[in-house]
Amino acid sequence: MKIQEADAKSLLVAQGLPVPAWAVAQTPAEARTAAERFLADGAERVVIKAQVLVGGRGKAGGVKLAGSADEAEAVARSILDLEIKGIPVRTVLVGPAADIVKEYYLSAVLDRASRRIIVMGSAEGGVEIEAVAAERPDAIVTIPAHPIAGFLPFKARQMAFRLGLGAHLKDAVAIATGLVRTMVANDADLVEINPLAVVRERAPDGSFTERLQCLDAKITLDDSALARHPGLEELRDPDEEDPADREAREAGLTFIKLEGTIGCMVNGAGLAMTTMDLVKRAGGEPANFLDIGGGARADKVAAAMRLILADPKVTAILVNIFGGITRGDEVARGLIEARSQQDRDVPMVVRIVGTNAAEAAVLLREAEFHTAETLDDAAAQAVAASKAAAA
Ligand code: GDP
Ligand code: MN
Repeated sequence: MKIQEADAKSLLVAQGLPVPAWAVAQTPAEARTAAERFLADGAERVVIKAQVLVGGRGKAGGVKLAGSADEAEAVARSILDLEIKGIPVRTVLVGPAADIVKEYYLSAVLDRASRRIIVMGSAEGGVEIEAVAAERPDAIVTIPAHPIAGFLPFKARQMAFRLGLGAHLKDAVAIATGLVRTMVANDADLVEINPLAVVRERAPDGSFTERLQCLDAKITLDDSALARHPGLEELRDPDEEDPADREAREAGLTFIKLEGTIGCMVNGAGLAMTTMDLVKRAGGEPANFLDIGGGARADKVAAAMRLILADPKVTAILVNIFGGITRGDEVARGLIEARSQQDRDVPMVVRIVGTNAAEAAVLLREAEFHTAETLDDAAAQAVAASKAAAA
């Protein structure tokens, strides 16, 4: 689950990380009020940023500076009128603008290959890190965190020196270790600061000082761990969730979209993985992982079918149900119902065994479904149907 920048910043502040003040505004007038406050508190300019769950807002015109309350109101109005990568901007973040000396990149990310949290940093911050990684991989420094102790201070110092942040060692160490704490405390799989910036500030005596600040924050939370953090579920932004993900979540289905052409509907996570393996062995590529769960009833089956068919790449569907608590005839009824509603005619191969399989077979035969006795046969039929559709 992705959360908005303002919410991500709250989680950083909770771990003691340095983040400039901010307010969230839904209207130009609210943005003006917030700007007036920051300007009265001594800011020379304010920054106004679109709150949408996509990167590259700056490039898309969603991050702007304003030097007065009037200008802040006008800029907020223009940003609230924007659509960034297809997402309408509903709120903006307003804060005192930082005077940036240099931008860095720093993140904590779950590295599944090494089964650890790693801290990634680059002195080439501000820009898209994927581009840096592709063009100049040596510009990225990667240091693993300790599985239990977190990001140890000596590792954090190594990171700071390798990024050229020796002049800000104390701040850099506090931020790098704090990123990993933020990650662990919230079961996040990514905590990213881009840019982490050296900013210039004027002291009361008129002299300038420099320090590090987290100017942007991106956090993704592990959906499977949300039950452990009741407060975090409230940060979900249903308007920005992928429609397929939302439908799956609301229907209680576990659904992960993949790249292939064969839609899979299965009950049970293990059986779903097996089904995908057998599709691959039969020469096909699964279009999704879909576990309809135990005891699924007809309406759930219909919802699963809608999700599968919403993917235009799907050219065949394989249904594999092992009836235990789930009753085969319920699933068959759900399939018949779903097919009567669907506007796209995609060949479907159904294998139902276990509880009420005989009743299911009668229903499916009457409705003229393609059926299969074994999973190998079902996979082969689905792959053949998909290849015939492509030809
Ligand atoms: P993103 O484009 O979605 O990653 O949004 P960011 O919050 O990272 O902002 C993009 C860029 O805008 C940053 O890399 C900075 O160069 C600039 N920016 C963001 N906040 C400030 C600020 O407070 N002051 C100044 N001068 N520039 C800022
Ligand atoms: Mn950014």
